[in-house]
Amino acid sequence: MLFDKFKEMADFQVELARREVKPFGAVTEKIISATEGIVEGREVILAGTNNYLGLSFDARCIAKAQEAAGRWGTGTTGSRLANGSFSEHQALEDEIAAFYGVDHAIVFSTGYAATSGMCATLAGPGDVILLDADSHASIYAGVTLSGADIIRFKHNNPDDLAKRMRRLGDRAQDALIIAEGIYSMLGDVAPLKEIAAVKREYGGYLFLDEAHSMGALGATGRGAAQAAGIEDDVDFIAGTFSKSLGSIGGFCVSPHAELEAIRFCIKAYIFTASSSPSIIASTREALRIIAAEPGLRDTLWDNANRLYDGLKALGLAVGPTASPVVAVQMTDRSITIDCWKALLEAGVYVNMVIPPASPSTNFLLRNSVSAAHSTAQIDTIIAAYADLVQRGLLTPEQAA
Ligand code: PMP
Repeated sequence: MLFDKFKEMADFQVELARREVKPFGAVTEKIISATEGIVEGREVILAGTNNYLGLSFDARCIAKAQEAAGRWGTGTTGSRLANGSFSEHQALEDEIAAFYGVDHAIVFSTGYAATSGMCATLAGPGDVILLDADSHASIYAGVTLSGADIIRFKHNNPDDLAKRMRRLGDRAQDALIIAEGIYSMLGDVAPLKEIAAVKREYGGYLFLDEAHSMGALGATGRGAAQAAGIEDDVDFIAGTFSKSLGSIGGFCVSPHAELEAIRFCIKAYIFTASSSPSIIASTREALRIIAAEPGLRDTLWDNANRLYDGLKALGLAVGPTASPVVAVQMTDRSITIDCWKALLEAGVYVNMVIPPASPSTNFLLRNSVSAAHSTAQIDTIIAAYADLVQRGLLTPEQAA
C-alpha cells in the first residue's frame, strides 16, 4: 500500500505521544530574547537554535525589517524573474558579493533552495559530482536531481577524495567537489586546506556550503574557507540567512561570471517567490553588523569553548573539536528521548536528532551556542546535563 512506508514513522509518533514528549515540532509560545523563550509552556534557555550571533533579536535588524514592510509591503508575490526583483534584493546581492570580495551573487528564498538549486544545476548528465558522505539533505536533494554521476567520499577524508579523483582520470578536470564548512550535526570543520590541495592536484570545481560557518569563522566572518586561507581555490560558496544572519533566505557567491547565466537555469530560483522585502532589509543590516562587529564572533567562541569543555568534562561524547554546534552523541533512542524531555523540564531547549538526520546510527542531543548567551546561561546548560548524569539518566556509556 502507498502508505506502508510511513508506518514506522507513524508508530514513532504514537510512542512519543504516549510518553508525552514532543522533540520534533515543540511549540515556542513566546520568544523573550535571542536566548530565552516559552516552549511547551515552560520558560527555557534556547540552546537549539542556529542563532549563532543572536541577531534575530537585534533592534537594528528589527527596525530595518519594520521600515521595509511599511515601504514595500509584506511580500513580493512573485519570482525574481517576474515581479519579485526589488531594489532591496539587488542591493543585498551587491552587498553579499562585496562581503565575499567577488563579483557575483544570487539571493535565494531559503538556504535549502540555494544549496539544492545550485547542486542540481551546476552539474548535469555526463558530469561527475564528488560529495562528502555526511552532506546536508539539501545537497543530496540537489545532486540527485542533477542527473550527474554521484560519488561519495568518506566524511572529512581528503585522502579518500584524492583516491576517487585519481580514478576518474581526465573526468576529474570537470568534476564538482562538494563539502561544507562547519558540519551541522557534530560541529566538525572540513579539512579545507587539504581538500583545496586535492583540487589543485587533480582539477575540478569546489563548491562549499558555509551555512553554519558564515559569521562564525574567518577573520571577517566569511566562513571556513576564509579561516583556512583557501578562498582563491573555491568556485562557489553557498550559505543561508537563517543562522548567523538571523532571518531566512540563502545565497551563492562566485568569482565566475557564468553565475549570471546559471541564475536563469536554476528552478529553485525561477519557480518560487522571492523573499519579502522586510526579510531582505533585516538581512542587509545583519550582514553589515557581522562585518563591523568581530567581537560577536569572539563571544560566540568563548561560549562554544565553555559549553564544549563543560560537557566533555562530564564524560559525554561530544564532537571532535569545540564548535558553535556541540552535540552529545547517544547510542539509545529511548534514553535520548528521556534526556531531551528532562532537559526541557530543567529549562533547557536543545535539538533531538535521529537518523537519517544524524550522521551514522547515533542519536544526538544537539546544542547550538549563541554570542547572545550569557556565561550564566551556558553554565545553566552544563548544570542541566550534570544533573542528568548525577540522576543516572545519562551516563557516559550511553553517550557513544
Ligand atoms: N545547508 C546546511 C548545511 C544546513 O544545515 C541547512 C539548514 N539546516 C541548509 C543548508 C538549509 O538552510 P535553510 O534552513 O536556511 O533553508
